[in-house]
Amino acid sequence: MADFSLDLNEDQLQIQKWVHDFAEDVVRPAAHEWDEREETPWPIIEEAAKVGLYSWDFCTNAYADPTGITWPIVSEEMCWGDAGITLAIFGSILGVTGIVANGTPEQVAEWVPQCFGTPDKVQLGAFCVSEPDAGSDVSSLRTRAVYDEATDEWVLNGTKTWITNGGIADVHVVVASVEPELKARGHASFVVPPGTPGLSQGQKFLKHGIRASHTAEVVLDDVRVPGRCLLGGKEKLDARIARSREGQSSGVQAAMSTFEATRPIVGAQAIGIARAAYEYALDYAKERVQFGRPIIENQAIAFKLADMKTEIDASRLLVWRAAWMAATRKKFENGEGSMSKLKAGETAVKVTEEAIQILGGYGYVREYPVERWHRDAKIYTIFEGTSEIQRLVIARAISGVHVR
Ligand SMILES: Cc1cc2nc3c(=O)[nH]c(=O)nc-3n(C[C@H](O)[C@H](O)[C@H](O)COP(=O)(O)OP(=O)(O)OC[C@H]3O[C@@H](n4cnc5c(N)ncnc54)[C@H](O)[C@@H]3O)c2cc1C
Repeated sequence: MADFSLDLNEDQLQIQKWVHDFAEDVVRPAAHEWDEREETPWPIIEEAAKVGLYSWDFCTNAYADPTGITWPIVSEEMCWGDAGITLAIFGSILGVTGIVANGTPEQVAEWVPQCFGTPDKVQLGAFCVSEPDAGSDVSSLRTRAVYDEATDEWVLNGTKTWITNGGIADVHVVVASVEPELKARGHASFVVPPGTPGLSQGQKFLKHGIRASHTAEVVLDDVRVPGRCLLGGKEKLDARIARSREGQSSGVQAAMSTFEATRPIVGAQAIGIARAAYEYALDYAKERVQFGRPIIENQAIAFKLADMKTEIDASRLLVWRAAWMAATRKKFENGEGSMSKLKAGETAVKVTEEAIQILGGYGYVREYPVERWHRDAKIYTIFEGTSEIQRLVIARAISGVHVR
């Protein structure tokens, strides 16, 4: 047997087909409606829970794939259906990843299932890092967590912004500053359990794209959580802070460890949108007749499609490489996780724009899905690290220079 192969195995092919069928039969037909309504598509999330797609079991199985490719496959197929609905269904995974990346096995067992709920009562998770004055610069978080020794509780105060599922989630994972003078090295992650007083939703944002996904501010006003809600536990945090004070390395920081793990998966979502637009434009170009021949017979159009397909396949290879490296614990020496997200996000924007061009006026109106895909694609150069921040990570990794 060859040592190197890009063939998907039987399990991966089966999952790909299963998810594709769900995306085709359930997600895509609902996409236009929920984009227009700009609301959380609860019936579709419930449907995903009913078939077992939105569940901790499914996520654990997908993560267990030793090649790391299953999650990118799932993400691509779902976003081929619709990215807004996919983020409404899988936005919880950000919170889940925050718990898994930083929590103890007991904390994972307690909180992760609550991010999903049950098919009869679906629940959501959220991961709250960004703040009005701390977006790309995560080190400048102002949300404070103060330990109250008398009650063994942490008290959280601050405002988070741009939070997927913010305020409607059952479990909010909040990254807060415990030791502000240590900047990012003084951060810790906390679970805010369902119904905790003091946590409320602020403004809900009306967006350019992915409008089925809820994005809002989360206000934390004297939110008290039990000591056991500090992910990783107090002993570990105290030791990390002591090391930082002595100037030693404090290990991977709370928010960063979550983003590292999710970048290739986010890249795969962008590829799903790009592929949808490419396929649509290809079919259209074969059918649309101008000057007595299908427009694809013009090199100007056919070459666009050739470039679109090439960019999509190149992006997928970068995503699969990064996912495989992460799963096999190979170190990202050159910012490979960032490369995958950077390339896929920018490809999605470019490919969807070219798809509009190929459809002409039909690409520009809301009756056709192409303009929605273009709006949806744009977020992939912004969230989970902007394209500029991905380039910064790659530039620093390849040069060893603290590029600014
Ligand atoms: C729909 C949506 C959902 C989101 N979901 C979540 C979520 O669930 N949880 C969460 O915590 N956050 C979430 N975010 C926040 C998202 O991660 C941030 O918007 C993103 O990190 C950028 O931060 P910012 O918007 O403050 O932009 P800024 O950081 O202010 O950046 C503005 C511009 O300056 C550039 N820039 C900044 N610093 C540098 C630099 N050093 N070098 C070069 N260029 C630079 C940026 O690339 C960008 O072009 C979400 C955002 C959106 C829009």
